[in-house]
Amino acid sequence: SVVVNQLTKNFSGTDVLKNIELDIQEGEFFALLGPSGCGKTTTMRCIAGFETPTSGEIKIGDKVVNDISPHRRNCGMVFQSYALFPHMNVFDNIAYSLNIKHLRDSNMVKKIGVYIRMLNSKIIKYPKDIEEKVNSILEYVELKDHAKKLTGELSGGQQQRVALARALVMEPQVLLMDEPLSNLDQKLRHSMRNTIRRIQQELKITTIFVTHDQEEAMSMADRVAVMNNGEILQIGTPTDLYSNPKTPFIADFVGTSN
Ligand code: ATP
Repeated sequence: SVVVNQLTKNFSGTDVLKNIELDIQEGEFFALLGPSGCGKTTTMRCIAGFETPTSGEIKIGDKVVNDISPHRRNCGMVFQSYALFPHMNVFDNIAYSLNIKHLRDSNMVKKIGVYIRMLNSKIIKYPKDIEEKVNSILEYVELKDHAKKLTGELSGGQQQRVALARALVMEPQVLLMDEPLSNLDQKLRHSMRNTIRRIQQELKITTIFVTHDQEEAMSMADRVAVMNNGEILQIGTPTDLYSNPKTPFIADFVGTSN
């Protein structure tokens, strides 16, 4: 679960987040929906730890994470721009963080530099369990046949599935997705909605999905928080929001296609 209490964020005198309250259940698919600039990404970045709240508390599971660094928060991230490593093949992209974690956990921090050099010259051999994990996730996102390709040789949809696999392979407690579909063409966007939802339900992973597209949020999420101007205006199931919008802004925003 993810709980956000009285979160505020101020950037150079402007309140971009005002008293954000969220209570996201274990296994829930939760969408943050709102127009450009309303504070969706900043909310997500505070949860992931890339942004320090001006005030407020963030809990992941039953742990307050305000003072915990991003890589220890156990959040998987997927971005609009995929942010893949272009010089690595699909397999290496997915194995990378897992291997770093393995080295860190096994007290081989000093070897990380060596490892990165090895990876750059492509003589890396992964431990067997990493190899197996990456292969099974590749199968899961239907990319097995593309494992040896560079990410630049893939379509947008395939690249986004690599990004998803790279997040999932770490077995995160929470999956954070920031406009993951907005770089894809319309047809792909629709099929990726189904792929993401299927995987999320199979893994029962708590997911926060940021989007400005009301149709996307309303068709995918268990619950949606509608944001505007740094505030959450209403939280509800898609049916709640359609049938009982609290304000004309919400009625307008969820009711029309943009
Ligand atoms: P979009 O969908 O366009 O990314 P958003 O709803 O995700 O919009 P945010 O990116 O969270 O909105 O931005 C919220 C507000 O905070 C915007 O007005 C933005 O200009 C401002 N902002 C975001 N990051 C910073 C920063 N590092 N410094 C100053 N202002 C920022």
